[in-house]
Amino acid sequence: MFKRRPLLLIVSSPSGAGKTTLCKRMLAEFTDIRFSISHTTRPPREGEEDGKDYVFVNTETFEKMIEDDQFIEWAHVHGNRYGTSRGEVRAAASGGVDLIFDVDYQGAAQIKKNYPDAVSLFILPPSIEELKLRLRARGTETPESLEKRFRAALGEIAHLGEFDYLIVNDNVDRAYDQMRAILIAERTRNNRCSHLAERLLH
Ligand code: 5GP
Repeated sequence: MFKRRPLLLIVSSPSGAGKTTLCKRMLAEFTDIRFSISHTTRPPREGEEDGKDYVFVNTETFEKMIEDDQFIEWAHVHGNRYGTSRGEVRAAASGGVDLIFDVDYQGAAQIKKNYPDAVSLFILPPSIEELKLRLRARGTETPESLEKRFRAALGEIAHLGEFDYLIVNDNVDRAYDQMRAILIAERTRNNRCSHLAERLLH
């Protein structure tokens, strides 16, 4: 089977904008796309599985990985470290599947720098009030961590100009339609499917 060059789809948003729901929906619909599992030094939350949601590591292991140049990108986010390992992109390339990255704006910029044809999209909440409500509705936050997340969200939103596409998630069905339209259109870019023409012409 032909293995096409993977499409690297970066999805960023402030927490509370609905990014996880949208990514899960895309992964459920498209079997030829996989989620890039990041490494993190943050402790697992309830229900999170090691090796599925994240690879949970201690600071020492993370630092060793930085030293060994094992990350395409890594960043400090909310006081913890998060990074995308080179192995994730290699695995996607050899499997002929596309890859979704859930990373912050720093990760998005680094991935774009390393892979200029990566496609980045930014999910926005419909309003700041709605963002506050959604953050609060999670119920997992203490007032301090809520405030910290809210500040971080505003900081993240300040970088929206660096992304290729913007999606306002005021209606999850519409936002998902926009996201899948981007995926489908980007897959047909000439440089990603020139193999189809080659097969025809030779
Ligand atoms: P959470 O702790 O809520 O799972 O994630 C916090 C933030 O870290 C999110 O904005 C998420 O996009 C970002 N993040 C997750 N993995 C990575 C990664 O590998 N690299 C970078 N730069 N950010 C990440």
